[in-house]
Amino acid sequence: LQDGLRSAFKTLRGQGRLTEANMREGLKMVENALLEADVSYTVVKDFMKDVSDKAIGQDVLKSLKPEQQLVGIVQESLVDILGGDSDPSLHLKPDVTVLMMCGLQGAGKTTTCGKLARLIGQEGKKALLVAADLQRPAAVHQLHVVGESVDTLVYSEEGASDPIAVCQNAVKHARDNGIDVVILDTAGRLAIDEELMNQLKTIDLKVQPDQVYLVVDGMTGQDAVNSAKAFNDALELDGVMMTKLDGDARGGALLSVKHVTGVPIKFIGVSEHMDGLEPFHPDRMASRILGMGDILSMFELAQREFDQEQVQKTQERLQKGQFTLDDFRKQLNQIARPGLMQKMLGLMPGMGELGKLLQGGDHEKEMRRLGGMIDSMTPDERSNPKLIDNSRRQRIAKGSGVSPQEVNELLKQFDSMATMMKGMAGGGMGGAMDMMRK
Ligand code: GDP
Ligand code: MG
Repeated sequence: LQDGLRSAFKTLRGQGRLTEANMREGLKMVENALLEADVSYTVVKDFMKDVSDKAIGQDVLKSLKPEQQLVGIVQESLVDILGGDSDPSLHLKPDVTVLMMCGLQGAGKTTTCGKLARLIGQEGKKALLVAADLQRPAAVHQLHVVGESVDTLVYSEEGASDPIAVCQNAVKHARDNGIDVVILDTAGRLAIDEELMNQLKTIDLKVQPDQVYLVVDGMTGQDAVNSAKAFNDALELDGVMMTKLDGDARGGALLSVKHVTGVPIKFIGVSEHMDGLEPFHPDRMASRILGMGDILSMFELAQREFDQEQVQKTQERLQKGQFTLDDFRKQLNQIARPGLMQKMLGLMPGMGELGKLLQGGDHEKEMRRLGGMIDSMTPDERSNPKLIDNSRRQRIAKGSGVSPQEVNELLKQFDSMATMMKGMAGGGMGGAMDMMRK
């Protein structure tokens, strides 16, 4: 994609004004990027029209190149659609706030309830999780397990069959016991059906939750859009939480869901663990959808999970464009934890390749294999991999017990990664644009 964007934007250079003709190629690339990211076709069409309407005839600002300006307009329009005024606040009231979570079965409601309870607890407030999913026999038990893991009380009624009564009793219980936030974990179905919708509508009517949130699975693409539309028609939604954005999903479904519901995206789920809930940032998601990599998120993640000093050093070196195999080796050590690697790589363009290298088989063994090759290099070779000729490659391969091809593969991956990182060193959008200008 980057290559395509780069050459597309190159043709815009030296033009004084954005016109349909000189933008065509660039816009085509953007359109493809969106479709690739799972944004639904109609949304893409609307969006592209919006962008070209905004762009056509705009004088190119003196300080900007036309291609920069077009990227800017695309990014801006994406942020607009995603909710430029996004607001991750749950708008808690001074007394009891009731949040109702709904969505299809498997969307991640129960998990997200737990994650929210954890955040609320961290703010020094008391949450109560309510087991209102009486459809699945194991659902009540699951909520108790989740509640325990986040140190939050769970309200459930043994043998209950009426979720509406359970919710009403739970709210009363909350008022009597100094609870700040009640979170209703409602039932879902595999597909939308009338019975489910009626049950939810009745809870909405009788329990009067302060906020109704839809939980959608970000990996389901077009299905997510259809279910969001149905839920939004039946209930007055206050916001959307999209889960499972830690996988390959680029988040394009978010754009479509936002487009059909018009309600704010509040949080995104980025892991199955209880700490995997992040406030939604439209600007970062816009970059991610366009495939520019969510560098800010990556550094945030890095800061949370890594040795601070090491992160600082790596960042400095990145800024100077001096990323070496030594740095790479250190990073390998730090990310040699299950799950973390994929999470990091998923956030960075170009890194997916490295992810493939590590995928399959024993994760730690892979790390050792890569690390072993680097360890078999001399310090000179590590800071200047170009030194590695055929005979040095043979030596490294022998030293680390791999084939010369494997050494080659590693060097190729490192090379594209280093280039990418240099391009990104400017940070965020600016860095990505630097890359395109080259
Ligand atoms: P519910 O039926 O809507 O209550 O869905 P659950 O909360 O039971 O979640 C269904 C599955 O999705 C479980 O295996 C969760 O661990 C998983 N899940 C939920 N949220 C996320 C997320 O953000 N990322 C990942 N990777 N898995 C998630
Ligand atoms: Mg559930």
